[in-house]
Amino acid sequence: MILLTKKVLMMHRRFHVKRDDRVMVITGREKGKVGKVLKVLKNDSVIVEKVNLIKRHTRPSPYTGKGGILEKEAPIHVSNVMVLCNKCMNPVRLGKRFLGDGTKSRVCKRCGEVLES
Ligand SMILES: [Zn+2]
Repeated sequence: MILLTKKVLMMHRRFHVKRDDRVMVITGREKGKVGKVLKVLKNDSVIVEKVNLIKRHTRPSPYTGKGGILEKEAPIHVSNVMVLCNKCMNPVRLGKRFLGDGTKSRVCKRCGEVLES
């Protein structure tokens, strides 16, 4: 029981960014960019569509046919992004709320809008 409580607390401290969220980068080189979360990684990093692109030079190979420059998203730490609220159109902090049917949902702390999750 105590262990369970601890686990819940730890989860609560985590960021609430999920796949398919629209997020804005709030710090660093990519500040101000907006994109969709493609993937949430285990080390609290996220891959955001068209954000933090890195160029990789690839050699021509007999398998892929041609070489060249490939652009690929590099992971960005979740603390560098904030979820964009669809209603107030701002990067916001999220809260949690229990809905009538007992399911937990994420809400915008600014306008109270429930985000789909
Ligand atoms: Zn909002």
